[in-house]
Amino acid sequence: MPGLDEKLHDTYAEVLRRNPGETEFHRAVHEVLDSLGSVVAKHPQYADSAVIRRLCEPERQVIFRVPWVDDHGVVQINRGFRVEFNSALGPYKGGLRFHPSVYLGIVKFLGFEQIFKNSLTGMPIGGGKGGSDFDPKGRSDGEVMRFCQAFMTELYRHLGEYTDVPAGDIGVGGREIGYLFGQYRRITNRYESGVLTGKGLTWGGSQVRTEATGYGTVFFVNEILATRSDSFDGKRVVVSGSGNVAIYAIEKVHQLGGLVVACSDSAGYVVDDKGIDLEVLKDVKATRRARITEYAEARGGAADYVGGRPVWEVPCDIALPCATQNELNGHDAGALVKNGCTVVAEGANMPCTPEAVKLLAGAGVVFAPGKAANAGGVATSALEMQQNASRDSWTFEHTEQRLSDIMRGIHDRCLETADEYGAPGDYLAGANIAGFTRVADAMLALGVI
Ligand code: GLU
Repeated sequence: MPGLDEKLHDTYAEVLRRNPGETEFHRAVHEVLDSLGSVVAKHPQYADSAVIRRLCEPERQVIFRVPWVDDHGVVQINRGFRVEFNSALGPYKGGLRFHPSVYLGIVKFLGFEQIFKNSLTGMPIGGGKGGSDFDPKGRSDGEVMRFCQAFMTELYRHLGEYTDVPAGDIGVGGREIGYLFGQYRRITNRYESGVLTGKGLTWGGSQVRTEATGYGTVFFVNEILATRSDSFDGKRVVVSGSGNVAIYAIEKVHQLGGLVVACSDSAGYVVDDKGIDLEVLKDVKATRRARITEYAEARGGAADYVGGRPVWEVPCDIALPCATQNELNGHDAGALVKNGCTVVAEGANMPCTPEAVKLLAGAGVVFAPGKAANAGGVATSALEMQQNASRDSWTFEHTEQRLSDIMRGIHDRCLETADEYGAPGDYLAGANIAGFTRVADAMLALGVI
């Protein structure tokens, strides 16, 4: 096990043996264990109590059949997942991902990350994740609704505002949360607002939840820049993706005086030297659910489309990977370094490969891992739960201020913890250690759980 502390070898070997073929999960575990060497050296109780081994085993994993009928009357079968990973700090909390790549290993990687991310927010939320291999691409509204209803027809029995509270992730936005909530309410006959987050504003949703992940990532980078007496002013920024996280990251960068010059989808990227026009991007991607080539067409000569190449070749000061896991590899990191990029912050979950992370660190580029930088989404979900519990709704300004304070808190916690454990300036170590110690201490307090 290269790099791992001796006390953690067996834990990792056990994870490999118990979860064969789940490479994304292996990597997520390895990355956390890699940061815990100094922690077990300083606090032997974590190794002695087997709390790290327990953390690597989900509390509960649900896998179910999702049968539904498409627009042609043909029966379709998908597979549904919910991994309830850890509830030491609060109800399981984490999104649902609908994407053809979804299998148990992806859900477990995301659920594992979610434990530490949620812990890091300082809020009372455990970690979980779910989803399906359903591909929403090209499906009609009616098909998406019937799929969501079929999915919730099984999932509802595992949920509850004190038990497990899903939200969105890739392929699950406001529309899907609406259909899921509608089916939950219909089956249970309970208007239990706190059972799902990311709801619409007229039926229990929170202001800023839609914007929160992207805004939060940019707030986090703003804190990094502030520690260097710097700001977004005049910075060239490249964002990957063009979904919910990317769109609101772009919006906040522009509000803070930076310029996002490129963004992408799975087929290619667009470069717009005057800055991405958000109105056009929102129309193409959020409203029409079309390909990003249409952005370039709508902008006429102002933007270029480049197909089949990584967006990371576009020179920038700050890079925000906001699409999906493993989208920025060692080669891409090399291009960023060569072009003078100084900060990489993950808006998506684990978009940078281990090679990329290593290369960036070696070149002195500040790296902010997703479990810290993109925690604004789930943190605002926790604010939505607070509002639901008190039957209240806050203003946009108040909620955004709370989000910004939370991101500053996470940033400072990462830096302080990194300092405390002899890794000054290392946001990855700080995030892993601070996330770990809070949840591990709660587990120890609750007995052998
Ligand atoms: N899917 C988001 C994440 O990766 C948000 C989860 C939530 O709001 O529960 O953190």
